[in-house]
Amino acid sequence: MNTPVQKGLSYARRMYLPRSIGLGIGFFAVAAALYPSHPPTWVWIAMIAHGYGWPHMAFLLAKRSPQPYVAERRNLIYDSLGGGFWAGAMGISPLPTVTVLSMMAMNNIAAGGLRLFTLGSLAQIAGALVSYKIFLPALFPHVSQLQLFACLPMLVIYPMAIGLVCYQVAVQLSKSKKALEKLSATDSLTGLMNHGAWKDRLTLEFEKCQKLNRQHSVALIDIDHFKTINDTYGHITGDNVLKQLSNALSASLRQTDMAGRYGGDEFCVIFPDTTLAQATEILERLRRTVHDHAHSALPDLKLSLSIGVAAYGAHQTDAAMWLHEADMALYDAKSAGRNRVTPAQPSSDVRAREGAALG
Ligand code: GH3
Ligand code: MG
Repeated sequence: MNTPVQKGLSYARRMYLPRSIGLGIGFFAVAAALYPSHPPTWVWIAMIAHGYGWPHMAFLLAKRSPQPYVAERRNLIYDSLGGGFWAGAMGISPLPTVTVLSMMAMNNIAAGGLRLFTLGSLAQIAGALVSYKIFLPALFPHVSQLQLFACLPMLVIYPMAIGLVCYQVAVQLSKSKKALEKLSATDSLTGLMNHGAWKDRLTLEFEKCQKLNRQHSVALIDIDHFKTINDTYGHITGDNVLKQLSNALSASLRQTDMAGRYGGDEFCVIFPDTTLAQATEILERLRRTVHDHAHSALPDLKLSLSIGVAAYGAHQTDAAMWLHEADMALYDAKSAGRNRVTPAQPSSDVRAREGAALG
Protein backbone atom coordinates (compact mmCIF):
# COMPACT_ATOMS: atom_id res chain seq x y z
CA MET A 1 0.00 0.00 0.00
CA ASN A 2 1.24 3.50 -0.86
CA THR A 3 1.63 5.94 2.03
CA PRO A 4 0.12 9.46 1.71
CA VAL A 5 3.69 10.80 1.19
CA GLN A 6 4.32 8.35 -1.68
CA LYS A 7 0.93 9.18 -3.23
CA GLY A 8 1.66 12.91 -2.94
CA LEU A 9 5.06 12.39 -4.55
CA SER A 10 3.63 10.48 -7.49
CA TYR A 11 1.05 13.28 -7.92
CA ALA A 12 3.91 15.82 -8.03
CA ARG A 13 5.83 13.60 -10.45
CA ARG A 14 2.77 13.37 -12.71
CA MET A 15 2.50 17.16 -12.81
CA TYR A 16 6.21 17.69 -13.51
CA LEU A 17 6.13 16.83 -17.23
CA PRO A 18 3.03 18.85 -18.26
CA ARG A 19 4.25 21.82 -16.18
CA SER A 20 7.70 21.72 -17.81
CA ILE A 21 6.25 21.42 -21.30
CA GLY A 22 3.42 23.91 -20.74
CA LEU A 23 5.57 26.66 -19.23
CA GLY A 24 8.48 25.94 -21.61
CA ILE A 25 6.38 26.50 -24.72
CA GLY A 26 4.02 29.01 -23.06
CA PHE A 27 7.06 31.28 -22.78
CA PHE A 28 6.94 31.84 -26.55
CA ALA A 29 3.25 32.79 -26.52
CA VAL A 30 3.81 35.38 -23.76
CA ALA A 31 7.07 36.64 -25.24
CA ALA A 32 5.44 37.17 -28.65
CA ALA A 33 2.60 39.13 -27.03
CA LEU A 34 4.85 41.32 -24.83
CA TYR A 35 7.63 41.87 -27.33
CA PRO A 36 5.93 44.77 -29.22
CA SER A 37 5.67 46.82 -26.01
CA HIS A 38 9.44 46.45 -25.35
CA PRO A 39 9.22 45.36 -21.72
CA PRO A 40 12.13 46.10 -19.30
CA THR A 41 14.90 43.53 -18.69
CA TRP A 42 13.50 42.32 -15.36
CA VAL A 43 10.33 41.19 -17.20
CA TRP A 44 12.39 39.05 -19.58
CA ILE A 45 14.31 37.59 -16.65
CA ALA A 46 11.06 36.85 -14.81
CA MET A 47 9.58 35.23 -17.93
CA ILE A 48 12.62 32.98 -18.42
CA ALA A 49 12.75 32.08 -14.71
CA HIS A 50 9.06 31.21 -14.70
CA GLY A 51 9.14 29.26 -17.96
CA TYR A 52 12.33 27.26 -17.39
CA GLY A 53 13.15 27.44 -13.66
CA TRP A 54 9.82 27.22 -11.87
CA PRO A 55 8.82 23.69 -13.05
CA HIS A 56 11.98 22.24 -11.45
CA MET A 57 11.67 24.36 -8.34
CA ALA A 58 8.00 23.36 -7.95
CA PHE A 59 8.95 19.71 -8.11
CA LEU A 60 11.73 20.20 -5.55
CA LEU A 61 9.35 22.02 -3.21
CA ALA A 62 6.87 19.10 -3.37
CA LYS A 63 9.64 16.52 -3.02
CA ARG A 64 11.13 18.16 0.06
CA SER A 65 7.79 18.86 1.72
CA PRO A 66 6.57 16.56 4.53
CA GLN A 67 3.19 16.72 2.75
CA PRO A 68 4.00 16.53 -0.97
CA TYR A 69 0.33 16.42 -1.99
CA VAL A 70 -0.49 19.68 -0.19
CA ALA A 71 2.69 21.28 -1.57
CA GLU A 72 1.81 20.21 -5.12
CA ARG A 73 -1.73 21.62 -4.82
CA ARG A 74 -0.12 24.87 -3.67
CA ASN A 75 2.19 24.74 -6.71
CA LEU A 76 -0.84 24.43 -8.97
CA ILE A 77 -2.34 27.57 -7.42
CA TYR A 78 1.02 29.36 -7.93
CA ASP A 79 0.87 28.20 -11.58
CA SER A 80 -2.49 29.88 -11.98
CA LEU A 81 -1.30 33.00 -10.21
CA GLY A 82 1.69 33.14 -12.59
CA GLY A 83 -0.45 32.42 -15.64
CA GLY A 84 -2.88 35.16 -14.63
CA PHE A 85 0.03 37.54 -14.09
CA TRP A 86 1.31 37.10 -17.65
CA ALA A 87 -2.22 37.24 -19.05
CA GLY A 88 -2.70 40.59 -17.30
CA ALA A 89 0.66 41.81 -18.59
CA MET A 90 -0.37 40.94 -22.15
CA GLY A 91 -3.61 42.93 -21.84
CA ILE A 92 -6.32 41.81 -24.15
CA SER A 93 -4.23 40.09 -26.72
CA PRO A 94 -6.83 37.56 -27.84
CA LEU A 95 -4.89 34.53 -28.96
CA PRO A 96 -1.99 34.42 -26.44
CA THR A 97 -4.26 35.36 -23.48
CA VAL A 98 -6.92 32.80 -24.34
CA THR A 99 -4.27 30.15 -25.06
CA VAL A 100 -2.51 30.59 -21.71
CA LEU A 101 -5.71 30.79 -19.66
CA SER A 102 -7.53 27.91 -21.37
CA MET A 103 -4.54 25.57 -21.21
CA MET A 104 -4.24 26.34 -17.53
CA ALA A 105 -7.95 25.72 -16.95
CA MET A 106 -7.60 22.33 -18.70
CA ASN A 107 -4.63 21.49 -16.47
CA ASN A 108 -6.49 22.50 -13.30
CA ILE A 109 -9.60 20.47 -14.18
CA ALA A 110 -7.47 17.41 -15.05
CA ALA A 111 -5.43 17.71 -11.85
CA GLY A 112 -8.11 18.62 -9.31
CA GLY A 113 -11.58 18.81 -10.82
CA LEU A 114 -13.94 21.76 -10.46
CA ARG A 115 -12.56 22.76 -7.06
CA LEU A 116 -9.04 23.34 -8.35
CA PHE A 117 -10.47 24.98 -11.47
CA THR A 118 -12.38 27.49 -9.30
CA LEU A 119 -9.43 28.18 -6.99
CA GLY A 120 -7.13 28.41 -10.03
CA SER A 121 -9.47 30.87 -11.76
CA LEU A 122 -9.52 33.09 -8.67
CA ALA A 123 -5.71 32.95 -8.56
CA GLN A 124 -5.57 33.83 -12.26
CA ILE A 125 -7.80 36.86 -11.70
CA ALA A 126 -5.63 37.96 -8.74
CA GLY A 127 -2.45 37.53 -10.80
CA ALA A 128 -3.98 39.41 -13.75
CA LEU A 129 -5.07 42.35 -11.55
CA VAL A 130 -1.57 42.71 -10.06
CA SER A 131 0.19 42.67 -13.41
CA TYR A 132 -2.42 44.89 -15.05
CA LYS A 133 -1.72 47.47 -12.33
CA ILE A 134 2.06 47.19 -12.87
CA PHE A 135 2.10 47.23 -16.66
CA LEU A 136 -1.09 49.10 -17.55
CA PRO A 137 -0.83 47.30 -20.90
CA ALA A 138 -2.10 48.58 -24.17
CA LEU A 139 -4.88 46.63 -25.85
CA PHE A 140 -3.91 44.46 -28.78
CA PRO A 141 -7.13 43.54 -30.53
CA HIS A 142 -5.29 42.22 -33.59
CA VAL A 143 -3.38 38.98 -33.66
CA SER A 144 -0.01 39.32 -35.30
CA GLN A 145 1.57 36.60 -37.40
CA LEU A 146 4.31 36.21 -34.76
CA GLN A 147 1.74 35.73 -31.95
CA LEU A 148 -0.13 33.15 -33.98
CA PHE A 149 2.96 31.05 -34.62
CA ALA A 150 4.18 31.46 -31.03
CA CYS A 151 0.90 30.06 -29.71
CA LEU A 152 0.77 27.04 -32.04
CA PRO A 153 3.25 24.83 -30.12
CA MET A 154 1.28 25.30 -26.91
CA LEU A 155 -2.04 24.60 -28.64
CA VAL A 156 -0.69 21.40 -30.18
CA ILE A 157 1.79 19.97 -27.69
CA TYR A 158 0.29 20.85 -24.31
CA PRO A 159 -3.05 19.02 -24.80
CA MET A 160 -1.00 16.00 -25.90
CA ALA A 161 1.02 16.12 -22.68
CA ILE A 162 -2.15 16.36 -20.57
CA GLY A 163 -3.72 13.53 -22.62
CA LEU A 164 -0.65 11.37 -22.01
CA VAL A 165 -0.78 11.98 -18.26
CA CYS A 166 -4.54 11.17 -18.18
CA TYR A 167 -3.90 7.97 -20.15
CA GLN A 168 -1.13 6.91 -17.75
CA VAL A 169 -3.46 7.53 -14.81
CA ALA A 170 -6.22 5.46 -16.49
CA VAL A 171 -3.80 2.55 -17.10
CA GLN A 172 -2.61 2.72 -13.49
CA LEU A 173 -6.20 2.79 -12.26
CA SER A 174 -7.17 -0.22 -14.31
CA LYS A 175 -4.16 -2.16 -12.93
CA SER A 176 -5.08 -1.20 -9.36
CA LYS A 177 -8.70 -2.22 -9.97
CA LYS A 178 -7.62 -5.65 -11.22
CA ALA A 179 -5.28 -6.14 -8.24
CA LEU A 180 -8.07 -5.11 -5.85
CA GLU A 181 -10.53 -7.49 -7.48
CA LYS A 182 -8.02 -10.32 -7.08
CA LEU A 183 -7.35 -9.38 -3.48
CA SER A 184 -11.04 -9.26 -2.60
CA ALA A 185 -11.53 -12.79 -4.00
CA THR A 186 -8.48 -14.34 -2.30
CA ASP A 187 -8.13 -15.90 1.14
CA SER A 188 -5.18 -14.06 2.70
CA LEU A 189 -3.80 -17.06 4.65
CA THR A 190 -3.84 -19.74 1.96
CA GLY A 191 -3.99 -17.78 -1.30
CA LEU A 192 -6.97 -19.88 -2.40
CA MET A 193 -10.32 -18.43 -3.46
CA ASN A 194 -12.18 -17.09 -0.43
CA HIS A 195 -15.68 -18.11 0.65
CA GLY A 196 -17.57 -15.45 -1.35
CA ALA A 197 -15.60 -15.89 -4.56
CA TRP A 198 -15.90 -19.68 -4.43
CA LYS A 199 -19.67 -19.57 -3.80
CA ASP A 200 -20.08 -17.23 -6.81
CA ARG A 201 -18.09 -19.74 -8.88
CA LEU A 202 -20.26 -22.59 -7.60
CA THR A 203 -23.43 -20.79 -8.75
CA LEU A 204 -21.91 -20.24 -12.20
CA GLU A 205 -20.83 -23.88 -12.48
CA PHE A 206 -24.25 -25.07 -11.31
CA GLU A 207 -25.91 -23.03 -14.07
CA LYS A 208 -23.46 -24.51 -16.58
CA CYS A 209 -24.43 -28.04 -15.47
CA GLN A 210 -28.12 -27.18 -15.81
CA LYS A 211 -27.93 -25.48 -19.20
CA LEU A 212 -25.21 -27.52 -20.87
CA ASN A 213 -25.90 -30.85 -19.23
CA ARG A 214 -22.41 -31.08 -17.74
CA GLN A 215 -21.39 -33.49 -14.98
CA HIS A 216 -19.50 -31.62 -12.24
CA SER A 217 -18.80 -32.74 -8.66
CA VAL A 218 -18.25 -30.69 -5.54
CA ALA A 219 -16.37 -31.55 -2.32
CA LEU A 220 -16.11 -30.18 1.22
CA ILE A 221 -12.93 -31.06 3.10
CA ASP A 222 -12.57 -30.61 6.87
CA ILE A 223 -9.49 -31.23 9.02
CA ASP A 224 -10.17 -33.69 11.84
CA HIS A 225 -9.71 -32.43 15.38
CA PHE A 226 -8.10 -29.22 14.23
CA LYS A 227 -8.95 -27.55 17.54
CA THR A 228 -6.65 -30.07 19.26
CA ILE A 229 -3.82 -29.18 16.84
CA ASN A 230 -4.27 -25.49 17.72
CA ASP A 231 -4.45 -26.28 21.43
CA THR A 232 -1.39 -28.57 21.36
CA TYR A 233 0.97 -26.74 19.01
CA GLY A 234 -0.43 -23.19 19.02
CA HIS A 235 -2.27 -21.13 16.43
CA ILE A 236 0.85 -20.30 14.39
CA THR A 237 1.47 -23.99 13.77
CA GLY A 238 -2.27 -24.28 13.09
CA ASP A 239 -1.96 -21.56 10.44
CA ASN A 240 1.03 -23.36 8.90
CA VAL A 241 -0.95 -26.59 8.75
CA LEU A 242 -3.72 -24.74 6.89
CA LYS A 243 -1.16 -23.33 4.44
CA GLN A 244 0.50 -26.71 3.89
CA LEU A 245 -2.85 -28.35 3.35
CA SER A 246 -3.84 -25.74 0.78
CA ASN A 247 -0.53 -26.43 -1.03
CA ALA A 248 -1.14 -30.18 -0.94
CA LEU A 249 -4.67 -29.58 -2.20
CA SER A 250 -3.51 -27.43 -5.12
CA ALA A 251 -0.81 -30.00 -5.98
CA SER A 252 -3.29 -32.85 -6.09
CA LEU A 253 -5.82 -31.05 -8.30
CA ARG A 254 -6.00 -30.49 -12.03
CA GLN A 255 -5.66 -27.00 -13.51
CA THR A 256 -9.38 -26.87 -14.16
CA ASP A 257 -10.42 -27.80 -10.60
CA MET A 258 -11.45 -24.84 -8.46
CA ALA A 259 -10.33 -24.93 -4.83
CA GLY A 260 -11.27 -22.46 -2.10
CA ARG A 261 -11.14 -21.99 1.64
CA TYR A 262 -14.72 -22.33 2.80
CA GLY A 263 -13.82 -20.98 6.26
CA GLY A 264 -11.89 -22.06 9.38
CA ASP A 265 -10.42 -25.51 8.75
CA GLU A 266 -12.80 -26.30 5.90
CA PHE A 267 -11.85 -26.30 2.21
CA CYS A 268 -14.01 -26.71 -0.89
CA VAL A 269 -13.42 -27.86 -4.46
CA ILE A 270 -15.42 -27.88 -7.69
CA PHE A 271 -14.39 -30.65 -10.10
CA PRO A 272 -15.62 -29.78 -13.60
CA ASP A 273 -16.68 -32.64 -15.87
CA THR A 274 -15.91 -35.20 -13.18
CA THR A 275 -18.18 -38.01 -12.03
CA LEU A 276 -18.74 -38.79 -8.37
CA ALA A 277 -16.48 -41.87 -8.65
CA GLN A 278 -13.65 -39.92 -10.32
CA ALA A 279 -13.82 -37.08 -7.77
CA THR A 280 -13.89 -39.63 -4.92
CA GLU A 281 -10.74 -41.24 -6.31
CA ILE A 282 -8.86 -37.91 -6.54
CA LEU A 283 -9.92 -36.99 -3.00
CA GLU A 284 -9.03 -40.41 -1.63
CA ARG A 285 -5.49 -39.91 -3.00
CA LEU A 286 -5.32 -36.50 -1.27
CA ARG A 287 -6.62 -37.96 2.02
CA ARG A 288 -3.98 -40.70 1.94
CA THR A 289 -1.14 -38.31 1.06
CA VAL A 290 -2.07 -36.01 3.94
CA HIS A 291 -2.46 -38.89 6.37
CA ASP A 292 0.87 -40.47 5.41
CA HIS A 293 2.78 -37.18 5.50
CA ALA A 294 5.35 -37.00 8.30
CA HIS A 295 6.11 -33.51 9.63
CA SER A 296 9.88 -33.45 10.16
CA ALA A 297 9.78 -30.72 12.82
CA LEU A 298 6.72 -32.15 14.60
CA PRO A 299 6.86 -35.96 14.32
CA ASP A 300 3.85 -36.38 16.64
CA LEU A 301 1.61 -34.23 14.48
CA LYS A 302 -0.83 -36.46 12.61
CA LEU A 303 -3.30 -34.93 10.23
CA SER A 304 -6.43 -36.51 8.82
CA LEU A 305 -9.24 -35.24 6.66
CA SER A 306 -12.94 -35.92 6.44
CA ILE A 307 -14.36 -35.27 3.01
CA GLY A 308 -17.88 -35.16 1.62
CA VAL A 309 -18.40 -35.19 -2.14
CA ALA A 310 -21.57 -34.77 -4.22
CA ALA A 311 -22.23 -34.88 -7.94
CA TYR A 312 -24.49 -32.45 -9.74
CA GLY A 313 -27.95 -33.94 -10.23
CA ALA A 314 -30.95 -32.75 -12.23
CA HIS A 315 -33.06 -32.93 -9.05
CA GLN A 316 -31.05 -30.09 -7.46
CA THR A 317 -32.95 -26.84 -7.69
CA ASP A 318 -30.00 -24.58 -6.89
CA ALA A 319 -26.30 -24.53 -6.02
CA ALA A 320 -27.11 -24.42 -2.28
CA MET A 321 -28.88 -27.78 -2.54
CA TRP A 322 -25.88 -29.27 -4.35
CA LEU A 323 -23.53 -27.98 -1.65
CA HIS A 324 -25.87 -29.17 1.07
CA GLU A 325 -25.54 -32.73 -0.27
CA ALA A 326 -21.73 -32.47 0.00
CA ASP A 327 -22.13 -31.06 3.51
CA MET A 328 -24.38 -33.97 4.54
CA ALA A 329 -21.82 -36.41 3.14
CA LEU A 330 -19.11 -34.64 5.18
CA TYR A 331 -21.30 -35.00 8.25
CA ASP A 332 -21.63 -38.72 7.49
CA ALA A 333 -17.83 -39.00 7.15
CA LYS A 334 -17.37 -37.40 10.58
CA SER A 335 -20.06 -39.60 12.16
CA ALA A 336 -18.57 -42.75 10.66
CA GLY A 337 -15.26 -42.13 12.45
CA ARG A 338 -13.50 -39.37 10.38
CA ASN A 339 -10.42 -39.79 8.12
CA ARG A 340 -12.47 -40.86 5.09
CA VAL A 341 -14.05 -39.71 1.83
CA THR A 342 -17.82 -40.16 1.72
CA PRO A 343 -19.77 -39.77 -1.52
CA ALA A 344 -23.25 -38.27 -1.11
CA GLN A 345 -26.12 -40.73 -1.25
CA PRO A 346 -29.16 -39.56 -3.20
CA SER A 347 -31.94 -39.04 -0.61
CA SER A 348 -34.91 -41.42 -0.63
CA ASP A 349 -37.31 -38.91 -2.23
CA VAL A 350 -34.75 -38.23 -4.99
CA ARG A 351 -34.40 -41.98 -5.59
CA ALA A 352 -38.19 -42.26 -5.72
CA ARG A 353 -38.48 -39.34 -8.18
CA GLU A 354 -35.69 -40.69 -10.39
CA GLY A 355 -37.30 -44.17 -10.26
CA ALA A 356 -40.66 -42.67 -11.29
CA ALA A 357 -38.98 -40.81 -14.16
CA LEU A 358 -37.34 -44.04 -15.36
CA GLY A 359 -40.54 -46.06 -14.91
P1 GH3 B 1 -13.78 -31.93 13.82
O1 GH3 B 1 -12.97 -33.14 13.67
O2 GH3 B 1 -15.16 -32.23 14.30
O3 GH3 B 1 -13.77 -31.06 12.63
O4 GH3 B 1 -13.09 -31.13 15.02
P2 GH3 B 1 -12.36 -29.77 14.95
O5 GH3 B 1 -11.55 -29.62 16.19
O6 GH3 B 1 -11.61 -29.60 13.67
O7 GH3 B 1 -13.58 -28.82 15.02
P3 GH3 B 1 -13.95 -27.64 14.11
O8 GH3 B 1 -13.77 -28.00 12.68
O9 GH3 B 1 -15.30 -27.14 14.53
O10 GH3 B 1 -12.89 -26.55 14.57
C1 GH3 B 1 -12.26 -25.72 13.71
C2 GH3 B 1 -11.21 -24.94 14.48
O11 GH3 B 1 -10.40 -24.25 13.55
C3 GH3 B 1 -11.80 -23.90 15.41
C4 GH3 B 1 -10.96 -22.67 15.20
O12 GH3 B 1 -10.34 -22.28 16.40
C5 GH3 B 1 -9.89 -23.12 14.24
N1 GH3 B 1 -9.60 -22.12 13.23
C6 GH3 B 1 -10.47 -21.49 12.41
N2 GH3 B 1 -9.82 -20.64 11.58
C7 GH3 B 1 -8.50 -20.73 11.90
C8 GH3 B 1 -7.32 -20.11 11.40
O13 GH3 B 1 -7.33 -19.30 10.48
N3 GH3 B 1 -6.13 -20.46 11.96
C9 GH3 B 1 -6.07 -21.37 12.99
N4 GH3 B 1 -4.88 -21.69 13.49
N5 GH3 B 1 -7.17 -21.97 13.48
C10 GH3 B 1 -8.35 -21.67 12.95
MG1 MG C 1 -12.45 -29.65 11.73
